[in-house]
Amino acid sequence: MGRTVLKGTPVCGGVAMGVVRYLDVDYDSFIKEYKKTDKDGELARFVLALKNAKADLDEILSEGEKLSSEEEDIIEMHLMLLDDAGFIEAIKRGIKEGLSCPTSIRKAVTNLKNMFAAMDDEYLRDRANDVEDVGNRVLRKLLGMPETKVEGENLVIVAKDVEPALMAGFSEGKVKAVILENGSKTSHSVIIAKAKGFVTLVGVDISKASGSDGCAALVDGKEGSVVISPEKGEEDAFTKKCEEYNKEAGYLAERAGDPAVSLDGRRIKIAANVASPDEMDKAAKMGCEGVGLYRTEFLFMDSDVLPGEETQTAAYRELLLKAGGNLCIIRTLDIGGDKKCRCLDIMPEENPFLGYRAIRICLNKKDMFKTQLRSLVRASAYGKLGIMIPMIDTVAEIKEAKALFEVAKSELRSEGVSFDEEVLFGIMTETPASVMMAADFAKYVDFFSIGTNDLVQYTMAVDRGNGLVAYLYDYFDPAVVRAVYAIAKAGRDEGIMVGMCGEMAGDALAAPLLMAMGLDELSMSPSVAPEVKEAIRTCRSDDVDLKKVLSFETAEEVRGYLEGLLNKSTC
Ligand code: PEP
Ligand code: MG
Repeated sequence: MGRTVLKGTPVCGGVAMGVVRYLDVDYDSFIKEYKKTDKDGELARFVLALKNAKADLDEILSEGEKLSSEEEDIIEMHLMLLDDAGFIEAIKRGIKEGLSCPTSIRKAVTNLKNMFAAMDDEYLRDRANDVEDVGNRVLRKLLGMPETKVEGENLVIVAKDVEPALMAGFSEGKVKAVILENGSKTSHSVIIAKAKGFVTLVGVDISKASGSDGCAALVDGKEGSVVISPEKGEEDAFTKKCEEYNKEAGYLAERAGDPAVSLDGRRIKIAANVASPDEMDKAAKMGCEGVGLYRTEFLFMDSDVLPGEETQTAAYRELLLKAGGNLCIIRTLDIGGDKKCRCLDIMPEENPFLGYRAIRICLNKKDMFKTQLRSLVRASAYGKLGIMIPMIDTVAEIKEAKALFEVAKSELRSEGVSFDEEVLFGIMTETPASVMMAADFAKYVDFFSIGTNDLVQYTMAVDRGNGLVAYLYDYFDPAVVRAVYAIAKAGRDEGIMVGMCGEMAGDALAAPLLMAMGLDELSMSPSVAPEVKEAIRTCRSDDVDLKKVLSFETAEEVRGYLEGLLNKSTC
């Protein structure tokens, strides 16, 4: 069997060695064997297959403790699709018009899938995969096809796509890596693969994959490569690479609890980005000191109705209690853009990232915003809280949000509810307007948190989810580096805390630069915290010649300079 090298986009790093398990299911050959009956017979078969597909999903849900809350949400969403009147009617209509049941299912799935795939919004486009997954589940039931069983150890799953429900069932002990042709960083199955820590690549042309189940595979999640049926010497070299990686990961994990203090004694706080209080145990294990970004929108996205004051207070209180006295920065609702929620009626927009989102919605729906602010203030009695407002563009927005925060506090005071009078009030700086106005904004707030995910998108005018222009989406672009510097300087000059919670904060290569710019806190996905902490421990706060970096004209120069520093410090 010939050696093959496949390339893809890395989504979750690390290295893995294992055996290939191909997961593509040949629906066509089952459909060819299918014997059509009359219309009533076909309708009855469809109803039964639908019932059985739902029963399968209900069974997966009933094994609740094995599922994360994200996995539960996805399965619930699939159940909703199976209950969707329009989808069911379309299939029944096809059958009544004379199509066989499988053909009618496929037709309805294709129509709905195409509708999602044509949407501008990346999140909604990714839902096309969910429609296909749901349709395939019904087909498997109809055609009596066996459910895919993934048995074995050290598996490297290779597939066009993997249904979220199937991915959720992969055990962390058995599966090491996932190689997908479809999927993106925001597709549901990839979100699950990342949460499980599988080395994951997307965008791999798996038609080029050679060999069959059981062939050896070497996956490098940093380079974005997978070698199938490697040569003997190659396997030995890769074993060494894995050993080194594991040694390094083990070393970093052992030191995760130590603070991030540079060689010349400058301490940077490393905090966690979380979407639910459930993630706090992992954050603590990875050495995060509190929370730099709690994305509260997930509380809203998970719900059919707007979460009320009691529900919100309970979630924020749980987070603060779990943080054990460390500062928790909780961001107010940042819905819109690529984040949709059922409980808010937001019209589709031409340019959702430039439209009705975040603080713009909150200032328009003041009752909803005040409920969130009251919940936050009430929870502040249980820890150290910072409230953070996203997408701020103007001083007027800060003033209006702050005024509502004061109203929430005075209401609670007069109701005799105790809370912390020292709650911090800060903003995300993530738009070009916030860069230009940073010195003014700094006068009104206790802290800035730089959101590079949006700052790159808006500075470079490049959709953060569009692969065609991804080459421009780079936080090391001099335009972004200079914007980050301007925000940090404005914050420092005013003496307020400056942190960063965009993805740049979780890149160990950027750490010396951000330290040189005087950032106080870096907040990131907990899994990368040990690496960033170590990068800070192995450099001095004045290693970076800021003047030089700020004079660079290309991202390559910035990256090259930082790589040079990294090599020096690891020599
Ligand atoms: C950011 O924009 O950098 C950020 C952290 O917020 P989000 O990714 O949720 O937009
Ligand atoms: Mg943002």
